[in-house]
Amino acid sequence: MEVKRKGMLLVISGPSGAGKGTLAKRLLEDDPSFRFSVSATTRGPRVGEEDGVDYHFISDDEFQARVDTGDFLECAVVHGHRYGTPRAEVLSSLERGENMLLDIDPQGARSVAAAMPDCVTVFILPPSYEELRVRLHTRNTENETEINRRLGNAKGEIDQLGRYQYAIVNTTVEEAIVQLKAIVAAEKQRTIRFFPVIPEKS
Ligand code: 5GP
Repeated sequence: MEVKRKGMLLVISGPSGAGKGTLAKRLLEDDPSFRFSVSATTRGPRVGEEDGVDYHFISDDEFQARVDTGDFLECAVVHGHRYGTPRAEVLSSLERGENMLLDIDPQGARSVAAAMPDCVTVFILPPSYEELRVRLHTRNTENETEINRRLGNAKGEIDQLGRYQYAIVNTTVEEAIVQLKAIVAAEKQRTIRFFPVIPEKS
């Protein structure tokens, strides 16, 4: 008997500075069954970000053209910029049995959960609002205006926590990654992911 597996769609969200990016990177490094869904965005690249790796950095016009052709599984305006998840990449990976990791905001997570109810949703919380402020300043990737915009949006994002299946408080990356891997390990074993192929008797 052959046992086929369907890929898992893992959606992580959380306010900017909660540490989603770091946790996502760790999971991708440690678990080769996962692929990262590279979103398209109209925001400009930060220092160190690579086109096609971190995001597909595209213009407003190109983004709109891709919306019009139905290229995105979901898209949303986040912190004043447009972000979208490419549909074809996600669906083809899942069909091949690969697990897909999406780092998207709560609006996007809601759309994905409606379209693909078997997805796994995890919300990453900072240990405190103050710590979020400190992390956003320390990582030094946004200017003061952008930091304040992100802190201002954090409360609204955290209000969406109840829509997620799991929550992780990211006090330290080492603790949080253990918890994320535990969620992933259990979710991999759900019966919905298995397709036993039983040969017909000759
Ligand atoms: P950043 O600009 O810091 O990379 O991301 C800002 C926010 O946009 C984060 O909350 C991130 O999860 C979210 N985001 C990134 N890609 C997508 C996407 O494709 N769709 C949606 N809805 N949100 C996204």
